[in-house]
Amino acid sequence: MTKAYLSLGSNMGDRAYHLREALRLLNQVEGIEVRDVSPIYDTAPIGYTDQNAFLNLCASVETTLSAHDLLYHCLDVEQQLHRVRKIHWGPRTCDIDIILYGEEQIQDDELTVPHPRMEERAFVLVPLQDIAPDAIEPKTQRRVGDIPVPDDRVQRTDS
Ligand code: ATP
Ligand code: CA
Ligand code: CA
Repeated sequence: MTKAYLSLGSNMGDRAYHLREALRLLNQVEGIEVRDVSPIYDTAPIGYTDQNAFLNLCASVETTLSAHDLLYHCLDVEQQLHRVRKIHWGPRTCDIDIILYGEEQIQDDELTVPHPRMEERAFVLVPLQDIAPDAIEPKTQRRVGDIPVPDDRVQRTDS
């Protein structure tokens, strides 16, 4: 069993529904158990900024799957939610990224873990710190709770 941390985001349609549905579908996969789920944050888009605000959360999963099989299922759930890839960093019904997979460091054509942009993103770090302040970021061996958060606008919602 490996504990992994996922970042989920949606900025199209019923955003909260897409996040809930993604967690439900992930939890249905043999070998993936969704554990802790952070509060949901409302965040301004980065990169391509001419799009709706995102809702973001982080979730922990316990998994018997390899990191690559976990990625495969994350992408499959995105497809099930009818994600259409048009603009890089553009609007999407659901994006699921692997932020940490145990304390493994992985870098190949399909997968980079820890997620290479996690430290630049308040929408990843803030919800991750909510559920996993004591998790270790293996590249620098820091506690997640000790990683400084960029001061982008992230607003906690009630959901
Ligand atoms: P970003 O990675 O900057 O958040 P994005 O999520 O918009 O960008 P996508 O188009 O969703 O990027 O993903 C493109 C590819 O990134 C995926 O098909 C996957 O192979 C690869 N990838 C590499 N590392 C990861 C990771 N840690 N989690 C999810 N996908 C990853
Ligand atoms: Ca992403
Ligand atoms: Ca992604």
